[in-house]
Amino acid sequence: MRNTTRDFQGTRRALLGRLAGVAAAATFMPLASRAQAPAPGRAIPIADMHSHLGIVGRTRSPADLATEMKTHGATLVSWSIVGDAPWLGNGPKGVIQQGEPTPAELSAFFEKTLNGMLAYAQQNQLAIVRTAADVDAAMGGKHSVLLASESAEFISTDLAPLKKAFDLGLRQLQLVHYIRNPIGDYSTASPVHNGLSPLGRELVKACEAHGILLDLAHCSTPAIDHAMEIATKPMIWSHGWVDSDAGGYRDQYGYLMRRLSVDQAKKIAARGGVVGLWGLGLRQPGQAYGWKVGLQDRAGYAREVAKLVNMIGADHVAFGTDIAGVGSEWAINDYSHVREIVQLLEGQKLDAATIEKVAFGNFARVLKATLPAA
Ligand SMILES: [Zn+2]
Repeated sequence: MRNTTRDFQGTRRALLGRLAGVAAAATFMPLASRAQAPAPGRAIPIADMHSHLGIVGRTRSPADLATEMKTHGATLVSWSIVGDAPWLGNGPKGVIQQGEPTPAELSAFFEKTLNGMLAYAQQNQLAIVRTAADVDAAMGGKHSVLLASESAEFISTDLAPLKKAFDLGLRQLQLVHYIRNPIGDYSTASPVHNGLSPLGRELVKACEAHGILLDLAHCSTPAIDHAMEIATKPMIWSHGWVDSDAGGYRDQYGYLMRRLSVDQAKKIAARGGVVGLWGLGLRQPGQAYGWKVGLQDRAGYAREVAKLVNMIGADHVAFGTDIAGVGSEWAINDYSHVREIVQLLEGQKLDAATIEKVAFGNFARVLKATLPAA
C-alpha cells in the first residue's frame, strides 16, 4: 500500500451510480467454460494480486468489496491486511514508520484484522481460497478472496505464528512493508539486515512448506535476491512498477523507491513468477520519471501493462491494483476501473490469450503451483 488509515471498513455501502457503465453491463462468463477469446459482450474474469478494499479507507469511492467483485466479475482478489497500519505516518518523501509497536501489539492487530475479514467474507458470500482447487473454482466464476498480509510483522522471534495464520486461511505473505521488522529490509528505508535476516530466510522456506505464496513487493534489492536464492517455487512481486534500474531509499520520492529493476523482474519471471502493476496515478505524469500514468489515467495504465508484457513476457504480468492503498492519487481505485483496463488492453495490440493471462491466468497459475492441492 501507499497510504494508510487504521480502520476496518468492511461495510455494506451503496454502489455508486457511476459504476453503471459498459463494464457493469458486460455479462460475466466463467473462464473455465470457454475456449479462446470470449464472445462479444462476454467478459473474462478478473484476478487482483493486491487489494485493500474494505480494510483501509478509500478516497472518493464508498462501494464495498463484495459488491464490486460481483458487479464487475472480479472473482479472485488477494485481500491484504496492512499489518503495520497503526504505526505508519507521512514523511517528506512518502510513508514512514511512526512509533514502535511491541510484538504483542503487532500480533493482536493482525489477528483482529484477519478475523474481521473472515467474518466479512462469510457475511457477504465470498469464498476463501485455501487450495489449488479453490483457485479453479474462482476461475469458474465463484467470487473468492485470497487472504494476504502486506508484511510479516506478526512474526517476531519464531515461525509459530505462521502456522496459526495458515490455519486461519492466510495464503499470501509479503515479507516487508514500511516498518522495521526482523525478517528483512524494505526499499524505502536504509538497510539493517543487508537483505533477508536468518529468520527471513527460514520464513521463505516455511511459506513454501505450508503452501503460502511469497510476495516480494517492498523488499530491498538484496532481500529479493536472497528470497530468490532460497525459493524453489514461483513468487510474485504484487504491486509497483518496473524500470531499467531499481528504486532505493535515497530516491527523491516514494514512488521512485518502489520500483523494481527489469533485471529482477526477469529473474522473478524466469522462476515462473509474476509481477503486478499498481494503480498509482501521478499529478504531473508528464514531468515524472518512469511511471507516466496520471490521475484517472486508465489508458496510461493499459499502456504500462503492454510495455511490461513486452519487457518480461505475457506469462509474467498481472494486476496488483493496491485498491484503497494507493491513497488519494490513483489511476485505478475500484473494480469498474479494472474492468475498463481489460477492455483497453485490446487497444494495446495484445491478443486475447495475453489479455486473459494478465487479467487472471498468470496469478491463478502461480497460486496453483504454490497452494496446497486440496
Ligand atoms: Zn504496498
